[in-house]
Amino acid sequence: MGEWVTAQEGDSFCSIAAACGFVNCEPLINHAANAEIAGRQLQPRDRVYVPDITERRDSAPTETVNRYQRLDPRVVRIRFVRDEQDQDVANDPEAPYLEVSGYKTDRAGTSGTDAFAGANHWQFHRASSADPRAFKVELIHPRAGAARLQVQLEVLHPRYLAGVVMVGWDENWSSAGEAARRRQEITVHRATPQPDQRYRSPYLRLVVDEQDKAGRQQQTLLTTDDQANEEVLEILDQKVRATYVLESCTRAADVRCRAVRELEVSERARKRYFRLCVGVFRRNPGDAVGIGGVDVPHVRRRVFRWLRRAYAQANMAPKVIDPGIRLLDPPSANMLTISNINGNPASGRTSAGVSPSRMRFTLTADRGGGVTVSKNVDLPIPRPATPAERPTPLQVANDLVAQINDANFTATAFENSPCLQRPAHRRSVDILVRDSAGGRVTITRTGTNPLSTDRTATLAIVQVNLNAVPYGSTPEEFLGSMQARSILRNFRDVADSRDRLDCFVVGRVSPGFLGRAFLACLNLHADYRPPAPIPYACIVNAETMDQSDRYPYVLAHELGHVLLDAWHTNPGSELMYAFAQSSPGMGRSKRLPPIRRAYGNFHPNQTHPGHHGNFYYSTAERLEQLSRNELRDLFDSW
Ligand SMILES: [Zn+2]
Repeated sequence: MGEWVTAQEGDSFCSIAAACGFVNCEPLINHAANAEIAGRQLQPRDRVYVPDITERRDSAPTETVNRYQRLDPRVVRIRFVRDEQDQDVANDPEAPYLEVSGYKTDRAGTSGTDAFAGANHWQFHRASSADPRAFKVELIHPRAGAARLQVQLEVLHPRYLAGVVMVGWDENWSSAGEAARRRQEITVHRATPQPDQRYRSPYLRLVVDEQDKAGRQQQTLLTTDDQANEEVLEILDQKVRATYVLESCTRAADVRCRAVRELEVSERARKRYFRLCVGVFRRNPGDAVGIGGVDVPHVRRRVFRWLRRAYAQANMAPKVIDPGIRLLDPPSANMLTISNINGNPASGRTSAGVSPSRMRFTLTADRGGGVTVSKNVDLPIPRPATPAERPTPLQVANDLVAQINDANFTATAFENSPCLQRPAHRRSVDILVRDSAGGRVTITRTGTNPLSTDRTATLAIVQVNLNAVPYGSTPEEFLGSMQARSILRNFRDVADSRDRLDCFVVGRVSPGFLGRAFLACLNLHADYRPPAPIPYACIVNAETMDQSDRYPYVLAHELGHVLLDAWHTNPGSELMYAFAQSSPGMGRSKRLPPIRRAYGNFHPNQTHPGHHGNFYYSTAERLEQLSRNELRDLFDSW
């Protein structure tokens, strides 16, 4: 009576045969009960029939010495190992998964500045082992004679059903060329003698672009997007296969003559999607493409190529959620700001001492087809009895909102956080005006009247210039300039803004900048943190989102500010380096390594609001920490 055995990950007929005491694999492969699966590689959960071992009887003359040799049943196996301790090779634990390296390809060590051991160095190397994502392939081959053998590595991609559910694996990429880019033959070197003879590869890494691959051709494996399936195919869903073809096997093409081991990229529980929308502004309402020629397909490519590659290092990937990637009409001049930056209350008198002071403007809604509606707003602000009773910007705004609201116009007041260096109660207010019939609202002066005659409280109409969106002067840097706030308030609902990232593509932000991020500022004094819908967003220049590959990491960098809730760091190879570069070369600013770096940030101990300094964070670990805690609403599980 034989028995049925269920194959596990990595099993072959030979490994099962060996485990059951057979000296070779033929009795299992050739058994009629296994005929259906005998011609292919075993899959986990395959049922394999193991026949009884046939007892062999032998006779020999007594009183002579008869030599019998026990056949060695040990089979050839492959393991992925980390080799992170200079320990006994056989005791090195097997790696449970592989991960995309965050190191510069030719660098190693705890600070990322040491040399990464080369392609001929199969021995332990302390600096190389400091990269927790470097790995080695180990071939256990008790009977091989050569000092060096070859193992084939290749990357498999999942097959998807309806673009989401994974239904199997494939090593055939969109073309033979794409498949070839993802294969690498590596040399393994004899590391331990017989009988437990093991061969080891040099330290290897998974990389996501050709530049890193070229940096160490022999020691890298390309796990990246594939043009034809670019959007659906996740880097973090891929799998690495190592294959060794037994040299003694007469049928080398036969899958049964191979030792195979497969390992997935990233541990499922660690993988995260961050939820993202991108709005590209049109230069004029109704234009067919966005500003600077940026169109939706260009943005999709930027997101599913460069953004995805950058965050694969952190076990994260972008997930585009509703309303998705879309073109937006430019914001109209439909926002007012009372007492920007200073947050001053109104004095109720003019600089000439006349009371009341006034705030005046005209609303016009263009409903298309030549239909417009308009309205004059004129708010007197009486002089209060005492300075303590001066109306705050919010009180003034509430009076204006009450006057604006009617059948045509709807206004909403948003109190801003105070700017740094201002008292906590000095809060400016933005008022957003919409047309209830969906027309485009424009706010203008009423004739030649000043918007505000108040001596202390100012009133501004916010007109966004998409070719110069101000970065925001120092005290309002973290709140954002009025123009930036107009973009954020017009296109992000307060409620929606808490669980997604929004990126807006404009012509340019301030001269000299490529983008601008809006952070939660978790360490900042609670009174000063920017309110929703300002955090978790960024504004980037069109040149970083067009159809070229220039400035490939600006989007990733700006979102990095949000996801790390931190400012800049060094060296220049870090994604969060202050100066973005225009190409994706090996030394460029694109790394998110598990290395402690000094980041600028607000001090957790706010002895005064805005107190800041430099703090050591492990870039990859901080991303993971925040994604599980303070910023978890921005993420979906894998
Ligand atoms: Zn930056």
